[in-house]
Amino acid sequence: MSTNREARAWLLLGADALLENFARLRAAAGPDARVLPMVKADAYGLGMSEVVRILRSERPWGWGVATLAEGLRLRDEEAIDEAVVVFSPLVERELESALRADLQISVSSLDALAEIVAASRRVGAPAKVHVDVDTGMGRTGFDWQSSLEWMPRVIEAAREEIEWVGCFTHLHSAEDDDRSVREQWARLQEALSGLADAPAAPLIHALNSAGAFAAPEYAGYVIRPGIFLYGGAVGAGHPIPEPVVSLYARVCHVREVTAGTTLGYGATYRASGPERWATLSIGYGDGLPRVLGNRGCALLQGRRVPIIGRISMDLTVVDISDLSGVRVGDVATFLGTEGQEKITLDEIAELAGTISYEILTGFTPRLPRIWA
Ligand SMILES: *Cc1c(COP(=O)(O)O)cnc(C)c1O
Repeated sequence: MSTNREARAWLLLGADALLENFARLRAAAGPDARVLPMVKADAYGLGMSEVVRILRSERPWGWGVATLAEGLRLRDEEAIDEAVVVFSPLVERELESALRADLQISVSSLDALAEIVAASRRVGAPAKVHVDVDTGMGRTGFDWQSSLEWMPRVIEAAREEIEWVGCFTHLHSAEDDDRSVREQWARLQEALSGLADAPAAPLIHALNSAGAFAAPEYAGYVIRPGIFLYGGAVGAGHPIPEPVVSLYARVCHVREVTAGTTLGYGATYRASGPERWATLSIGYGDGLPRVLGNRGCALLQGRRVPIIGRISMDLTVVDISDLSGVRVGDVATFLGTEGQEKITLDEIAELAGTISYEILTGFTPRLPRIWA
């Protein structure tokens, strides 16, 4: 475990693990697949700048984000010159900035296509577009079943008004249902059956992290992995990623209490006898899920110690009655390995009733991100 002299709590992030997970995805997808790492939401909370800096050595085809601001950040602050694809629909007033920054954008409707064509004219260059096809996710995209209504107009626009770069769909259940992946892929192919008339063959892409392992035969052009890169598991039967993220907090107070002593907001915990408690400098204000109060645990001296009472914004208390010699300044592990014990991202997520993605993106700016 690495220690950090000043920090009260911090995230320790592993560059080698990130690279290893990238290599495993690329190996699964095959030598021809290009990789578009998804770095939206500040690279799932890890920090977009560092993630991009580290993965750039692997020469990905491009980078995936969700919003205009994220795309602009890649261009302006990170000086990225590879493809940057913004996946969520943009509103009309965002289009010009996106095009001027040479961001590739998705399109989900003919109205949006008309706006994109108009913005391309104003900017004086054809927008680079990925056509989003809805094959069951239901959030965005042209309906796969009605491609006869939209495909001809997209093909027409692609002749001179836009540059048709790609066509994609998003999988809804690749973690636990391989059959659904095949069904969504078949729907995409059906929607694209009129493509023969297209002026150029767009890149077809569908696979997220889970999809890259569940159905690598569909990886052909581009895969769009996110969570596996950052150490989140992608379902039973698939490879386990190398853990990328560890979370540590320091002991800031230790006390012996007598039976009946209450703890935390709501006094939801009461010592049942003489106990020893350690207060840790971390709380939900750092992104430690409050729901882990009276449920979760941390590691101290290589042993699991239960979180007792409610987690507050800045502080969390663990019962260290079974340990001796815990001192202020010692470091507890909330996520990661200590001695023979470990707490995984997916274990915390499950205990908190959520998914690894929400745990990672929930870590707040108060936690320093330290890369090793
Ligand atoms: C976030 C996202 C992904 C990555 O999904 P993971 O499950 O994190 O691998 C892929 N494609 C799109 C369009 C996304 O928004």
